[in-house]
Amino acid sequence: TKPLHEKVAIVTGGSRGIGAAIVRRLAADGAAVAFTYANSSEKADAIVAEIEGSGGKALAIKADSADAAALRKAIDRAVDHFGALDILVNNAGILLLNKLEDFPLEDFDRMFAVNVRAVFAGTQAAARHMHEGGRIITIGSVVADRSGFPTSSVYSMTKGAVAAMTRGLARDLGPRGITVNTIQPGPTETDMNSDPASHEMLKGLMALGRLGEDREIAGLAAYLASPEAAFITGASLTIDGGYLA
Ligand code: NDP
Repeated sequence: TKPLHEKVAIVTGGSRGIGAAIVRRLAADGAAVAFTYANSSEKADAIVAEIEGSGGKALAIKADSADAAALRKAIDRAVDHFGALDILVNNAGILLLNKLEDFPLEDFDRMFAVNVRAVFAGTQAAARHMHEGGRIITIGSVVADRSGFPTSSVYSMTKGAVAAMTRGLARDLGPRGITVNTIQPGPTETDMNSDPASHEMLKGLMALGRLGEDREIAGLAAYLASPEAAFITGASLTIDGGYLA
């Protein structure tokens, strides 16, 4: 049997990029997968059709992570639809860069709401439904440990915040047998990171001299979601092509 047979997962921000790769991988590993998105309904519907076409189960839900009530409703809807919840992947995130002197505080608040507050609100909502063996996985970033270039202070702060929150949540949920971990990808080829000029700059910072692929990050998420990873909790696992090396 597949490693996630009879498991139910929800992934935030599953319509594109790393989130979409995680949705596909968890479904391929046998899970029924619900996912949220903010705007890309056509892409979301296409992923559902693709998974259902290969005999899997998927459900797309439009919900802005910055709206905690909408996120909570989406999680409850996934539980109603699939009858349980075993795995939450907090993936939705935004990247707003700016020079220190120009940085709008509205961007600080928006990034904090999506990248940090929603991780807490989503975990709070999901944990109510989870049992022994539950899994909470957050997509942080290696910039929690090394910013690497100017303009990224606020984004880096949000990713440092989720790494710290993960350690706290691991203590909250450990007694219930639920693990909580963060994945810290290095630069990965997605829409968020698609500017050729910045690719060249980033490649120069990587030991492997290339960016990551969304599928590579999804492989680590699938491992953390699997029964084999039951003893890993409170950890921030780096997958960065040597950005920190
Ligand atoms: P993309 O911008 O390529 O995709 C973002 C996904 O999140 C989309 O599905 C988008 O939905 C969804 N999303 C964005 N905002 C919201 C919101 N407010 N509510 C619900 N869904 C939302 O990003 P990546 O795949 O590159 O990034 C995924 C995660 O990985 C983020 O947390 C990011 O910070 C992190 N990361 C990315 C790295 C990289 O180099 N790419 C490196 C390290 C970490 P829609 O399609 O509807 O807009």
